[in-house]
Amino acid sequence: MNALVPTQLDEALRVIGTHPDALVVAGGTDAMVEINAGHRRPRMVIAVNRVAELRSWTYDPAGATVRIGAAVTYSELMESPLAELIPALAEASRTVGSPQIRNAGTLGGNLGTCSPAGDGLPVLAALGAVVHLASATRERSLPVSDFMVGVKRTALEADELITAITIPVLAGWQGYSKVGVRNAMVIALASACLATDVTTSSVRLAVGSVGPTIIRCADAEAFAGESVSFARRSATPATVARFGELAAAASHPIDDHRATAAYRRHAVGVLASRLLRRAFPND
Ligand SMILES: Cc1cc2nc3c(=O)[nH]c(=O)nc-3n(C[C@H](O)[C@H](O)[C@H](O)COP(=O)(O)OP(=O)(O)OC[C@H]3O[C@@H](n4cnc5c(N)ncnc54)[C@H](O)[C@@H]3O)c2cc1C
Repeated sequence: MNALVPTQLDEALRVIGTHPDALVVAGGTDAMVEINAGHRRPRMVIAVNRVAELRSWTYDPAGATVRIGAAVTYSELMESPLAELIPALAEASRTVGSPQIRNAGTLGGNLGTCSPAGDGLPVLAALGAVVHLASATRERSLPVSDFMVGVKRTALEADELITAITIPVLAGWQGYSKVGVRNAMVIALASACLATDVTTSSVRLAVGSVGPTIIRCADAEAFAGESVSFARRSATPATVARFGELAAAASHPIDDHRATAAYRRHAVGVLASRLLRRAFPND
């Protein structure tokens, strides 16, 4: 196996263009598992975690957005001031693997793998993130909901790199929660991100591990928007319960070796209800 290690973005795009069958690796926490298990046998690996442009993030206060380079790690997403700008992403990052995995694993890699259980993905979906892609000859940007097309399937072309993710900075409470078979080092059996936007009095909810890809729960969002009080930060117990039912109804889980569909559907409803209660703590 040969490895190329570009340090500039244009160099990275050029080598990916000339080796479209090469495997791009950032932290390697998914890719190396695949290689070690024999599921992938790349002749060429292109490591992008030393490309400076992919390792940084910027905040645009005027546009109220944060642009995060694809090779920014979970450990970096957990640090101030980024953690205060996108608290749900920091909260999701804290649940990923172990310190070693969080030091190596990247947001771009989570998107590249596009597992329905990826912890960064419900946050990106709830917040309406945009994924920026580039090849040696073109650039394009896709809403994250268009980028994720199925179980471990994305809109990425062979000669493209994920360069960055732009995330709106919302005013309002936001949080992430997941259920697994234990408290740490665990793949989500069900996950949810809830974000509120006080400027539009809206509630956003995206759920993971309960369908082929991340699901935005439009009915639950509309119901919460009409039923909660942003002024008093309150939601009645009936609203909290109904919100969970609508989240569960939006999910399409399957039975697999980790959990039954019925358990996942129940769990995602509980997660959604608890997140709504955290966002609106008063009855
Ligand atoms: C022990 C362990 C525990 C884990 N725990 C969790 C967990 O709790 N939650 C969770 O969500 N994940 C978990 N993972 C999975 C993994 O850590 C994450 O999905 C991580 O975000 C992958 O990032 P990476 O940089 O390591 O990706 P890599 O392994 O480098 O790449 C993953 C895929 O994305 C592609 N890719 C990477 N970067 C780019 C780019 N810039 N442009 C285009 N394609 C790209 C690669 O080609 C590959 O297909 C765990 C993995 C391990 C080994």
